[in-house]
Amino acid sequence: MSQTNIQLIRGFKDILPGETELWQFIEKSAITLLEDFGFREIRVPIMEKTELFARSIGEDTDIVEKEMYTFADRKNDMLTLRPEATASICRAYIQHKMASQDPVRKFYTIGPMFRRERPQKGRYRQFYQIDAEIFGVASPYADVELIFLLRTLFDRLQVTDTTAHINSLGCPVCRPRFKAALADLLTAAAPTLCADCLRRKDRNPLRVLDCKVPGCRAAMANAPSILDYLCDDCRTHFDTVTDTLARLDVPFEIDKQLVRGLDYYTRTAFEIQTGALGAQSAVAGGGRYDGLVESLGGPPTPAIGFAIGFDRLAEIVAASNPDVANGPDLFIAALGDTARQKAFEWSTALGCEGIGVSMVYERKSLKAQMKQANRVGAGRVLIVGDSELEAGQAVLRNMADKTQQEIPIDALVQTIKRAMENG
Ligand code: ATP
Ligand code: MG
Repeated sequence: MSQTNIQLIRGFKDILPGETELWQFIEKSAITLLEDFGFREIRVPIMEKTELFARSIGEDTDIVEKEMYTFADRKNDMLTLRPEATASICRAYIQHKMASQDPVRKFYTIGPMFRRERPQKGRYRQFYQIDAEIFGVASPYADVELIFLLRTLFDRLQVTDTTAHINSLGCPVCRPRFKAALADLLTAAAPTLCADCLRRKDRNPLRVLDCKVPGCRAAMANAPSILDYLCDDCRTHFDTVTDTLARLDVPFEIDKQLVRGLDYYTRTAFEIQTGALGAQSAVAGGGRYDGLVESLGGPPTPAIGFAIGFDRLAEIVAASNPDVANGPDLFIAALGDTARQKAFEWSTALGCEGIGVSMVYERKSLKAQMKQANRVGAGRVLIVGDSELEAGQAVLRNMADKTQQEIPIDALVQTIKRAMENG
């Protein structure tokens, strides 16, 4: 009977060496920037009670309706693999009474999210997000700060083909007036709406604005703009965001069709879109959610956050920086059993000094070893045989400029270290 190899789950993926270097590079760039701006890391579980997501994301959203990985555990508690991080961070903020010490908190977290969507390029069932949140700040400067940080990170990663789209979703004071105006249009347009939008029309009408189905797009092209319905406070807030972005030279586009998929957004919503990804154009999204913490049982706490689609960002960065991966600093080519044993000892000592070493542990010809040193892209090669060992000398070859020098094997680790430091 033939055995089939077990494959990974559809929509899941491995990130292999060769790609992980790029992921680490992106992650480090994001962490450095966020920590420079006072964000601190929070790590929350990847599983929560289903109710947390149902209550925060909203029953009438695609995520809660059809995308969550939900199951009963052995004691019949309903659990869900997190589809996003904000709900968990709010839960932690409330549970650990963080507001009572200092309501103003800046968090970031990086990790996997799970949504059972149709897998395609840029859309996975396990994907990763870089997430940042500011709690306790109602000022529009927090909104600007997050959009500015996205811009700065993308600049540092040399991702230039992006636009920040921004909109306001109003607040519980002004949004109902907009919804009423929209409802009239939706009733008139009902015959041309897709099945999903017919449902959304009554339960979550704003979502029709961001439906991608061409018929719905056409019907919504002349939809009223929520920006014309904002109350004075929301209007001032939005104007301050756009004025301040302009003062900071952050380019943006006002996009009246932009509504975010999650129910909890208020006021500013934004999305970073790019032309580099085909159909999956959003590389990051976020917005303000001033009512969420309170609705989950916490103290009234304005808050705003963003989530970067790490997989999509990595894809864009990979296209412009194909070579982030580096070979080892040093390859040791050893000839003879004694030399190989010595080489292995040096490799451990050098590794502890932060110098990456590669060597072959088996007996191989010098030619084969030099070939391997080239293949792994080593910066330098140390060549040592039993006779060199006896003479107390080894040869250090610089693979970039092809120069080589004899070095004493006494204090070899220190000598190599110095050679590396001098470039
Ligand atoms: P989309 O419109 O692409 O479905 P979304 O509005 O559902 O995005 P958010 O919930 O705002 O996405 O998540 C923030 C970011 O996470 C998105 O801009 C995107 O880059 C990324 N993202 C969302 N879903 C996926 C997925 N299934 N696979 C890969 N990345 C994703
Ligand atoms: Mg989605």
